[in-house]
Amino acid sequence: MNQSTAHTRDEKGEWRPDVPVPISPLNHWPPRPIALARWLGAYPGYIWPSNLLCLLVTIAVWLWATPELASMKTFEAWWVAVLFVRNLALFLFMFGGIHLLLYVYKKQGNDLRFTLKPFAKDNARFKFRNQLHDNVFRTLAYALPIFTALEAVSYWGFANGHFGFMPFGDNMLTFWTWTIVMAFSVPLIHSVHFYLIHRLLHVRILYRTVHVYHHHNIEVSPWSGLAMHPLEILLYFSSVALQWLLAVHPFNALLQLTLAAYYAALAHSGFDKVQLGPVKIDAGSFYHYLHHKHFECNYGGSVIAMDNWFGSMHDGTDEARAKIRERARAMRANQG
Ligand SMILES: [Zn+2]
Ligand SMILES: [Zn+2]
Repeated sequence: MNQSTAHTRDEKGEWRPDVPVPISPLNHWPPRPIALARWLGAYPGYIWPSNLLCLLVTIAVWLWATPELASMKTFEAWWVAVLFVRNLALFLFMFGGIHLLLYVYKKQGNDLRFTLKPFAKDNARFKFRNQLHDNVFRTLAYALPIFTALEAVSYWGFANGHFGFMPFGDNMLTFWTWTIVMAFSVPLIHSVHFYLIHRLLHVRILYRTVHVYHHHNIEVSPWSGLAMHPLEILLYFSSVALQWLLAVHPFNALLQLTLAAYYAALAHSGFDKVQLGPVKIDAGSFYHYLHHKHFECNYGGSVIAMDNWFGSMHDGTDEARAKIRERARAMRANQG
């Protein structure tokens, strides 16, 4: 791995992957079925390695670290505490693990790292005047309890028959087919949901009162992923409500929540790819890194690139940057 050697860094120490940033074949029009099929099965592709890793971790968590569904029919402190402690371990593994790998043990050095600027210190915008401490605090004090609360509500709802409205419950074949279809759809649901809530968060009043705390992070690390105002965290994880409506198995609710946390850690890694042993995870982070740099672009992700449909896509090219700057100018003029 030697793509980000000194000769590819500019004088400010910034490194860029090849542009334009690719978007998935799901966005091709007219559709290109062969490219789509190749992307579904390729490495790296839709399934392997990134989403499959998340799926395997979530299956392990469901099988070995989740109380019996029948025991979660009524809210009791013991099983909520089990979920909380397990989620603390999961968060430390995901956010802390990637941070340790990249920024403490520096396993990749600066390979594929977008910027060499340090995280902010002695800056009043952050709690404790320290970006990293602020980010860890918001993740563990706000995001962890909200994630756990939504997970607990999910199990309580499925255990009592309040969720899971699709008529597939009586037949084992349709039950498991639908469960697999819904598991497969989790990244797509996340992609559309994230674009919509993020677009909403950029409405001026919500931006100034809620979303601005996330945007204080210009340089990002995995811990920046969920460094948000509590209302934004609630909105971010509210994609699980779609699983309450559509899924028949509570596992899909857990997967929707876990994938949202996992994507937050990866998309803010500050590196284009994260090397995990022999596996290179495409973090998709440059697309979102550009959002932190330029604000009014790339509200969504590159799986279903809704920014491409609505004119807010920044693909990393100079032309796109000029277009986005012009768009931002027009937006400021409109707002007076
Ligand atoms: Zn972000
Ligand atoms: Zn934003």
